[in-house]
Amino acid sequence: MNNNHRPSGRRLRFEIFRHNPEDSSSHPHIETFELEELPYMTLFVALNHIREEQAPDLQFDFTCRSAVCGACGMLINGRPGLACHTRTADLPDTIRLHPLPVFKLIGDLSVDTGTWFRGMATRVESWIHENTPFDPEAQEVRMDDDLASAIYEGERCIECGCCVASCGVANVRPDFVAPAGMNRIARFMMDPRDERSDSDWFDVVSSDEGVFGCVGLMACHDVCPKHLPLLEVYAFLRRKMLTRGITQLIPRAS
Ligand code: SF4
Repeated sequence: MNNNHRPSGRRLRFEIFRHNPEDSSSHPHIETFELEELPYMTLFVALNHIREEQAPDLQFDFTCRSAVCGACGMLINGRPGLACHTRTADLPDTIRLHPLPVFKLIGDLSVDTGTWFRGMATRVESWIHENTPFDPEAQEVRMDDDLASAIYEGERCIECGCCVASCGVANVRPDFVAPAGMNRIARFMMDPRDERSDSDWFDVVSSDEGVFGCVGLMACHDVCPKHLPLLEVYAFLRRKMLTRGITQLIPRAS
């Protein structure tokens, strides 16, 4: 027997949230499954075993199995995380799985993050805004390496929704732009090709739906599976908006 497929001796107990909102006879409840743990087993593998052997109708999302697609975000013993990125060896014998809050429930552990992220992207106008007409003959403008790396940091977001689900404000305010939205804004604010002024951004982020709505719990920073520097993102945005607010208050010299 291959080492990767030898039972580790632990019998895992899975307590999984079940509900199909499309079925009027369905009601939210917890269903329990047991499974022999395998070495190097991830939750992705465990859930597939459960679906293949015990619950063919269990709903959950996966695409890449390598923390790139962001589809398998769920609450793992109460903490948002990626199932493909979580080893059962790092969890206790009893594993409780719930769908991510904030997002619309599709069924069981599957939620609709796409609609939320599309709404956020539309709201923050998540594209480069240029005032000058596109010139196909123009030479490319070089970007400073450090700046390009800083922008790339923000681009590493896989839109898994873990930060949004962990955010106390996003859980009670559907209009909050939330950490993933803040990260997106900071990415475009840093980009010299985006010609939006601080005043333009002030309208988008300076209310309590934006950066000043954050109460500073920073669970988002702790749960992000891609380790995006969300603490720094908030600090950057607050500094920018405070500077802009203060400049507006200071009367210009005549
Ligand atoms: Fe997921 Fe991190 Fe992007 Fe939030 S910032 S959606 S936790 S990858």
